[in-house]
Amino acid sequence: MEKEKRAEYARLIVRTGANVQKGQIVQLTAAVEQHEFAALVIEECYRAGAKKVNVEWTSDVQQRLNMMYAERETLATVLPWEEAKMKQVVEDLPCLIYIESEDPDAMAGVDPEKLSAVMQARAKVWKPYRNAIEGKHQWVIAAYPSEKWARKCFPEAEDAADRLWDAILKTVHVQEGKDPVEAWKKHTEFMEKKAQWLNDQGFASLHYSSKNGTDFTVNLIPGAKWEGAGAVNSENDVFYIPNMPTEEIFTSPMAGKCEGTLVAVKPLSWNSQLIEDFSITFENGKAVSCKAGKGQELLEQMIRMDEGAAMLGEVALVPKESPVNQCGFLFYETLFDENACCHCALGMGFKEVLPGGDDMTMEEAGKRGINDSIIHVDFMIGAEDLSIDGIRTDGTAVPVFRNGTWA
Ligand code: ZN
Repeated sequence: MEKEKRAEYARLIVRTGANVQKGQIVQLTAAVEQHEFAALVIEECYRAGAKKVNVEWTSDVQQRLNMMYAERETLATVLPWEEAKMKQVVEDLPCLIYIESEDPDAMAGVDPEKLSAVMQARAKVWKPYRNAIEGKHQWVIAAYPSEKWARKCFPEAEDAADRLWDAILKTVHVQEGKDPVEAWKKHTEFMEKKAQWLNDQGFASLHYSSKNGTDFTVNLIPGAKWEGAGAVNSENDVFYIPNMPTEEIFTSPMAGKCEGTLVAVKPLSWNSQLIEDFSITFENGKAVSCKAGKGQELLEQMIRMDEGAAMLGEVALVPKESPVNQCGFLFYETLFDENACCHCALGMGFKEVLPGGDDMTMEEAGKRGINDSIIHVDFMIGAEDLSIDGIRTDGTAVPVFRNGTWA
């Protein structure tokens, strides 16, 4: 992995992604194995004028050992010093930069029930702090290849890490002889134009169809926004890109208002296990049946996680030309896989798509149609021939997607 490319990528994450400003505090989260790349990110933050860069080092191995050996109650307890750190984050509102590199099988063999119980208990303590900083800070999630992650994507290849690295660079528009900052400017402008067009149309519902058996209608929430690419920190009006890569224009549909069948076009990785060749059928907005060539039980278990797990929280439009899709392999990492083609997500929706949604509780947002659940699982339905029509309140249909891409 060439040194200049790594530096260029670090610069892109800091300047275009988090868009670190002079005098800001940065909190970087990275795996211990990635300390060399993290150093490039830290230095770039200081070049951008950061006041201080704090690092949260993580380790898959430590996490797994804790999960295997420590007691459930011990793991579920958030200690005072951990909470004090979070309080400091609420006070400082730092830029948060996450570098993902996790082994997709890191938690394989860990009791999934223990894992989710611990996650749930800790999330409950974090939630009020998360809510307190929502919309008020810049953040970005990007990825850097680890050996184990690369091996999962390319089990046979000797140069697995290099191949994953090349793929990541392709998806984030870092290309030979081209200015990635300029490329991202064009990319975000294009996505904003598409989101604006959808918002201007004010469709009442979307109808999906494909030869593969997808035939599905979903109602949208009147006034809910389509969003894409970037976001603005409401504290300082700084524009930032929360996900790199990002290809999706998304919104949260009306919970409990959809009918028909969605056929998946890519395998789904859930709790480090695979669900393949599957379809989900909805009636009165709820998943009433599902069929999977592999992972049937897992899929059923997922849909039964709680009441909201059987309803949709997200619909997202991604053209099939997406560079993630062009890579042609499964990344086993939602940051990438959800940017491959059109998808929907079962579970929790996004309250921020509602006007004034940032200040609503999940309960208030629920009354307006935003789904709530402990899960949010994206699954890909962007077939090569996918057609999507936007249906106006008077019943007229407007082509949105044809043959898997913008009409
Ligand atoms: Zn999505």
